[in-house]
Amino acid sequence: RAKRDPSRPVVTFRPEMHTAALRQLQLEADLAQAARRGQMRLVYQPIVDIQTGRIGGYEALLRWQHPQLGAVPPNEFVPLAEELEIISELGAFVLEAACRTFQSACSDPAGAVASQLPSLQVNVSTRQFLRPGLAQTVRRILDDTGFPAARLHLEVTESALILDIDEAARTLTELRDLGVRIHIDDFGTGHSSLAFLHRFPVDALKVDRAFIARLGEDLVSAKLVQTVLLLARTLDVDVIAEGIETATQRDHLIRMGCRWGQGYLFARPLELADTLELLRAGPAALLGPRD
Ligand code: C2E
Ligand code: MG
Ligand code: MG
Ligand code: MG
Repeated sequence: RAKRDPSRPVVTFRPEMHTAALRQLQLEADLAQAARRGQMRLVYQPIVDIQTGRIGGYEALLRWQHPQLGAVPPNEFVPLAEELEIISELGAFVLEAACRTFQSACSDPAGAVASQLPSLQVNVSTRQFLRPGLAQTVRRILDDTGFPAARLHLEVTESALILDIDEAARTLTELRDLGVRIHIDDFGTGHSSLAFLHRFPVDALKVDRAFIARLGEDLVSAKLVQTVLLLARTLDVDVIAEGIETATQRDHLIRMGCRWGQGYLFARPLELADTLELLRAGPAALLGPRD
């Protein structure tokens, strides 16, 4: 048995390292084919008027059911798709599936009751946003599916916008010219600054769940949310509060004048069948429990 070199740290090989490495390899090998093999599906989480419960939109969220590994979370496979440079294809798949689903649900004669049709919010990852051709892809999908541009809202994060501000502003303008709306996702966690926020043509800020989680527990979070609401009013954009889980958080937000919210208190992300049910029922009231 060789003597240990005392200057080198002891690395103990644990079985879970092996498992994690194998998992990583398998995900890498399978991700590119997952959509084609029918392992990818979308779920939809309502965005509601937190005071009335009226549904203003749905956010499409991607799910991967791997045949051996089970459900793989998007926080794991979206960064992987970026690394593997297949995010544009995966993103186009999401956009197309979501637009097609919503278009057929809303043009269904049985569903013609909805007087005010909800918007569809689709996430665009940082690398997907930075790759050229996004606006052309969006235009093609809108043409192919017939989905109205004004009801498509794209969610981009601050990190996608700050790398190259001029280029980002150009891409946003191209998208806006198609009639699509832009939301900044996870607002408050990135590094956007007042100096350039006003240069981006955006329609809404989605306040990150981290700030909402502590509402009612610490004063600082409440003040930060208040500041975002004030900023939004100045810029004349909407605010959507993410991750509302309790009636206390909701009531704080109502008192501060926040109109839109999303979170488990109102609804978890819904399977397609349940989403279609809600869509056909029209602007159904979806109220969180009262205190
Ligand atoms: P996101 O866009 O900020 O989406 C919100 C996430 O918060 C979703 O997680 C949602 O299920 C979760 N959430 C909603 N309400 C609550 C709540 O009350 N409490 C808690 N704890 N969580 C809540 P999900 O579906 O796991 O997605 C995670 C992230 O993965 C998303 O964050 C988004 O960045 C990314 N992602 C998901 N689907 C797609 C997609 O189709 N394309 C791209 N590019 N990214 C996606
Ligand atoms: Mg989002
Ligand atoms: Mg978010
Ligand atoms: Mg988030």
